[in-house]
Amino acid sequence: MDCLFCKIIEGVIPSAKVYEDDKILAFKDINPQAPVHVLVIPKKHIASLDGIDSTNIDYVNHIFAKVPEIAASLGLGGGYRLISNCGDDACQSVKHLHFHILGGKKLAEAMA
Ligand code: AMP
Ligand code: ZN
Repeated sequence: MDCLFCKIIEGVIPSAKVYEDDKILAFKDINPQAPVHVLVIPKKHIASLDGIDSTNIDYVNHIFAKVPEIAASLGLGGGYRLISNCGDDACQSVKHLHFHILGGKKLAEAMA
């Protein structure tokens, strides 16, 4: 499968890892849109939020269980935003489920 984030998981494409375990990987976004911009992905190919089902929900649960710990490790005590773009209207560019953690400054109030 020609998936950029699956290749990052496999180590074929390098990434700046900030957290990893058996189910998820977090790494720095290559084009940061805030002082802290990290992507959290499941180590299983799920195309988007629309691809979540009973066979892969464990991976998604684990992402949510770990986000507070990852955010704390990034120094985001002042707060942060968690975003997942799903589909064309949301401008999803990589078709492997990912959650953006954005922070490190006062973010814009507008989200869209
Ligand atoms: P989205 O537009 O929500 O699909 O987000 C995809 C994100 O992946 C963008 O913020 C890109 O900057 C980021 N990205 C693309 N290629 C890489 C890469 N090789 N390493 C890290 N982040 C990447
Ligand atoms: Zn993938």
